[in-house]
Amino acid sequence: MSGRLHGRRAIVTGAGSGIGAAVAAKLLADGAEVFTADVQGDVDFTADLTRDAVNTRLVAEAVEAMGGLDTVVPCAGVSAFHPLEGHDDAYFLRVLDVNLIAVFRLVREATPHLKAHGAGRIVTIGSTTSSYGDEGLCAYAASKHAVLGFTKSVAAELGPFGVTATCVQPGAIATPMTAPAFEQMPEYQTFWENKAPLRRLGRPEDIADVVAFLCSKAARFVSGHGLWVDGGAMGRH
Ligand code: NAP
Repeated sequence: MSGRLHGRRAIVTGAGSGIGAAVAAKLLADGAEVFTADVQGDVDFTADLTRDAVNTRLVAEAVEAMGGLDTVVPCAGVSAFHPLEGHDDAYFLRVLDVNLIAVFRLVREATPHLKAHGAGRIVTIGSTTSSYGDEGLCAYAASKHAVLGFTKSVAAELGPFGVTATCVQPGAIATPMTAPAFEQMPEYQTFWENKAPLRRLGRPEDIADVVAFLCSKAARFVSGHGLWVDGGAMGRH
């Protein structure tokens, strides 16, 4: 097999749906070996990634299956609108658990392998809400701001070992996560389509192409960076 990611061995979480599924398909198409994980869908490893020790097991099984590990792309995530008043602790903590703590655990468990490889890649999935806040998104935006800060810190710590860490920040992407909101609030979809100078929602493939670039040799000097992939929405007032 050939391709710009030939020889890379990647874990992709959230690969049963939406952006994660597109990322897994793109990395495979570019020649990488990919070990997929999700709580649902057609993946190699099915589990709730917030459960204790699951990320340790995920890394061990991926290393066994692929003979090593040099790339990690945690795409699993949850989102929903909840106003601050009446926001219960359990939901807030659940969002942090999935979007932040599970990412931290996976990256921590993968780190010895990424360091040993010498050119490891970590690509986290933040959001444009890693850079702004909005009504009803206090838990989600807090988790996504944290993922961006986490990624920058990991980049600083692992850079001396040749590992890069970047955070892709998607805008509004048409996936099963956003479908209910866009169905219930068509004006919300129209808002995002008009806010983006490219005048459309993103597609999972728009994100997957950027992730594949960041995993490739061409991105060897890109690290500690959050990258909006949003059709230009954030660059516009
Ligand atoms: P999606 O289609 O819902 O895919 C997310 C996947 O993660 C789902 O299969 C989901 O399973 C899984 N998952 C959730 N909790 C999990 C857990 N505890 N353990 C294992 N897997 C779990 O959503 P998406 O839109 O592709 O989102 C992917 C990532 O992009 C997320 O981090 C999201 O925050 C981020 N993002 C999305 C957008 C957007 O507009 N779509 C914008 C910015 C950032 P269930 O369906 O069973 O929950």
